Amino acid sequence: ETTILQVEGLVTEFKSERGIVNAVNKVSFDLERGQTLGIVGESGSGKSVTNLSILRLIEYPPGRITGGKVLFHDQDLLSVSENEMLSIRGKHISMIFQDPLTSLNPVIKVWKQIAETLMLHQGMKKQEAKKQAIELLRIIGIPDPEMRAECYPHQFSGGMRQRVMIAMALSCNPDILIADEPTTALDVTIQAQILDLIREKKEQYQTSVIMITHDLGVIAEMCDQVCVMYAGRIVERAGVEALFGSPKHPYTRGLLESIPRMGNVGTQRLHSIKGSPPDLANLPPGCPFRDRCDKAMDICASQLPPEVVLQEAEGERTVACWLYPQEGKHGRA
Ligand code: SF4
Ligand code: MG
Repeated sequence: ETTILQVEGLVTEFKSERGIVNAVNKVSFDLERGQTLGIVGESGSGKSVTNLSILRLIEYPPGRITGGKVLFHDQDLLSVSENEMLSIRGKHISMIFQDPLTSLNPVIKVWKQIAETLMLHQGMKKQEAKKQAIELLRIIGIPDPEMRAECYPHQFSGGMRQRVMIAMALSCNPDILIADEPTTALDVTIQAQILDLIREKKEQYQTSVIMITHDLGVIAEMCDQVCVMYAGRIVERAGVEALFGSPKHPYTRGLLESIPRMGNVGTQRLHSIKGSPPDLANLPPGCPFRDRCDKAMDICASQLPPEVVLQEAEGERTVACWLYPQEGKHGRA
């Protein structure tokens, strides 16, 4: 396995009227080639901001990346020029967002938008790119692709627009695809089609995927590795089977317990665990989960638990919780 992306100690802050919001707080993880890494957590846990930071799409003000490294092929994306970053975005790392209507240009026909991506990233001529755009529409299951290609984005349903965005992102044949809640707003059938499409392309091109979601069913179905985020930090990171089979962090346990055992996991969203996440503008000392944790001890109130590495038969796991032996302290965090 080759590591394609290494995120190390990433910190992203936002200025707010109430003070500095610690949206991403020393986040570290590796992404291997061909691997799908899930990032799961409640809204506001820092999933999206982590990935926007990787692509340097944090707007200043109010946001700012204040620490860490994002190593892509051994190059720190946080220190390359904006021009280099422009060519990396799209060509090497593509991101698809939850709301595709805001990402597609409303006054340009659908085929043209796909074709422009192909011309830019694959050096195709216009006619060839148009043919390929129509072919892509066919592959992603748009009915009557020749006719539909002439439509504008608003004439497409939400599901079709989402598939167009994914087709565009994948047509650049990126090394890394970041998908931020790619199926959240869609009905179950379209959801399944889109996940199939991502899986297919991923296998075909050995694409690495970062899948941001609050849907544990999507994680179970798509991911190899999982990061669980809480209050801007990764609280647990493990292989998908280890995570679902024996969750270690009390927050992860809470998430998994909220799934009905007999239900259809594929449609389950995260249910709320009692209490609410802490105010990120005013983080108390200690473990950010302690007010909601039924295992909290004295130390949890005063000291932030570091990430420790647990060596297990299935591989490595990291967990940030005082319940676990501290010998394996993570060197990077
Ligand atoms: Fe609970 Fe303490 Fe572990 Fe935090 S560090 S999750 S409060 S036991
Ligand atoms: Mg989000």
